[in-house]
Amino acid sequence: MTQSALTPELLDAVNRAVDARLAAMMPRVGIGYDIHRFIEGRPCILAGVDVPSDVGGLEGHSDADAATHAVIDALLGAAALGDIGHFFPDTDPQWKGADSLHLLGACVDRLGRDGWRTVNVDVTIIAERPKIAPHIAAMRETLARVLQIPGDRVSIKATTNEKLGALGRREGLAAVACAAIIRQGGHA
Ligand code: MG
Repeated sequence: MTQSALTPELLDAVNRAVDARLAAMMPRVGIGYDIHRFIEGRPCILAGVDVPSDVGGLEGHSDADAATHAVIDALLGAAALGDIGHFFPDTDPQWKGADSLHLLGACVDRLGRDGWRTVNVDVTIIAERPKIAPHIAAMRETLARVLQIPGDRVSIKATTNEKLGALGRREGLAAVACAAIIRQGGHA
């Protein structure tokens, strides 16, 4: 190829191809948020773990596992695949009382079909009660198993809402999550 053959159009095409290749090799990140109200007479399931609670369990169509729901939304967001309500609508009877770990597994499978693997997830649970700290190790292990990644790539943190607002009044519990994913082999 002579130098004169490198037209602006060709240079543009080469740059676009390099950009696409670099983008395919980069991890992508997503965020998720969920909140559920406390209700008496239900277990308090968080990240798949039944947490002893003196403020009741979480109200919802499924098992209302806010931590797992936030992780699902973070993963779907990273892949730009929509949100949990799109995949598992709360109007669908098949998800009534569903184990959210099952939903997370289905989400991992969906991303896997597009070649996505989870790099890591980081979750913050926001609640005055129940006490989360004693259950963090079990939560990490549980999520890591379903995500099919080592436990040291799953982080669970907990904080209170400093008695502010609805969470501060112990009316419910919220969770935020961040997830990074990468395409196996770096193919677009
Ligand atoms: Mg939810």
